[in-house]
Amino acid sequence: MAQEPSGGDTVYLDYNATAPLRPEALEAMVGALRNVGNASSMHHAGREASIRVDRARRQLASLLNCSASEIIFTSGATEANNLALRAAYAQGGALVTTAVEHPAVLEAARAITQGTPDALAILPVDAEGVVDLAKLDKALEDFLPRGVALVSVMLANNETGVLTDLQPIIKAAHTAGALVHTDATQYVGRLPLDLQQLDVDLLSLSAHKFGGPQGVGALFLRRGTSLPYHPLLLGGGQERGWRAGTLNVAGIVGLGAAAEASQLYMREEAIRTAKLRDDLETHLRARVPKCRINGASVPRLPGVTSVTFPELPADAVLAAMPQVAASDGSACSSGAPSPSHVLLAMGRSRDNADSTVRFSLGYATTSRDIERGVEAITAAVAHVRSLLSADAGP
Ligand code: PMP
Repeated sequence: MAQEPSGGDTVYLDYNATAPLRPEALEAMVGALRNVGNASSMHHAGREASIRVDRARRQLASLLNCSASEIIFTSGATEANNLALRAAYAQGGALVTTAVEHPAVLEAARAITQGTPDALAILPVDAEGVVDLAKLDKALEDFLPRGVALVSVMLANNETGVLTDLQPIIKAAHTAGALVHTDATQYVGRLPLDLQQLDVDLLSLSAHKFGGPQGVGALFLRRGTSLPYHPLLLGGGQERGWRAGTLNVAGIVGLGAAAEASQLYMREEAIRTAKLRDDLETHLRARVPKCRINGASVPRLPGVTSVTFPELPADAVLAAMPQVAASDGSACSSGAPSPSHVLLAMGRSRDNADSTVRFSLGYATTSRDIERGVEAITAAVAHVRSLLSADAGP
C-alpha cells in the first residue's frame, strides 16, 4: 500500500533522492526497535536480533538472486562504493570508471589513486549518457603493463535514469583480468536484477532508494572473488570482518522488508511508474515549448526524467513551485554551486545543465500527482519566463 510521502499537499517527485519508507519496512523496523538485543550477543535477545538480521539478509539475497553469505551490510551505497574501490585498488593496478558516476565512486576513485600517475581512467559518455565501449577497450589496453584492478560502471544513472548495458563491459573487463563493480543504487528494487546472470564481482546499493530507511545499504561481494582483505572500519569483526561495528538491526530489518516488498510488486510498479513518467513527459513536451528530455532515446529507469528548460535557471523554477519536490541536478551535490558533472559529460552547456530539473517517480506516485505536477511545472515555467522578460526590460 502506498504511503503519503510527506505532507498531504506535496507532490513528491524526488524518489532518486530518497523514496518514502514502505509501510512494510516501517512495521518491521518498529518490531526490531522494540527488541533490545545486540545481534552479536549470545543470549536470547541477541539471538532474536540476529535472527531478524539473517532474515533481512535472505530477503535481500532473494531480490538479487545471490547467496545471503555474499552480502555485507554497510551504512549505505557511499560506504559500499568506497569499500569496493579501496579493497580492489589494494591489489595494485589501475581503476577504470566513468564520467557520470555518483561522487561516491568518482571522488573515492580520485582520492584513492591520488599521487599515483596514470592509475585512473575516467571514460567519457555520448550525448545520451551511454559509455563508449571502444574507450573501455582502449583504457584496458593502455593499462596492460600495470593491469586494471577494477572497472566500476553504474547500472543506472541517478540524474538521468540512463541504464548501462553491463554485459559487454563485464566481458571486456574480465578478459583483461579486472574485477567489475557496479553502483546499482538507483536500479535495485526498481527493475529485476539477477546476479546469477549478471556476472559482476561487486555491487553497491542503498536501502532508502527502494523504500527502506536511510543510513543502511550493502555491498554484494561474489563468493570466490579474489579481493584483498581491506575493510574501511576495523573493530569487532562483524560482517565477516569486512565491516566492523554493531549491526544497525532496525535499519537492516527495514532494508530486508523493503527488498521483499520491492520484489513482490516490482513488475507492476515498473510498468505503472513508466507510464506515469511517460505521461509527465508527454504533457511537458506539449505545454512547455522548447523543453528537452535528457537521455530520452536510450533505455532508462521507469520513473526518472531529466528535463532541461532552456534559459530558465532550475533553482528559480523549483522555487516557483514549492508544492513540488524535485531536484536540480542531483540532490547529493545540491548546495554546491558547480553544474551537474553528468550533464556536462553528456556535452550539455553549463547554461543548459543549470536549467535542468530531475523529476523522479516511484511506487507511491499517483496519476493525480502527475496532473498536479504538470500544472505546477507549467505555471512555474511561465512565471520564471515572465520574470526574466520583465528583467530584460523593453
Ligand atoms: N550512488 C548513487 C547512484 C546514488 O544515487 C546515491 C545516492 N544519491 C549514492 C550512490 C549514495 O547513496 P547513500 O547516500 O545512500 O550512501
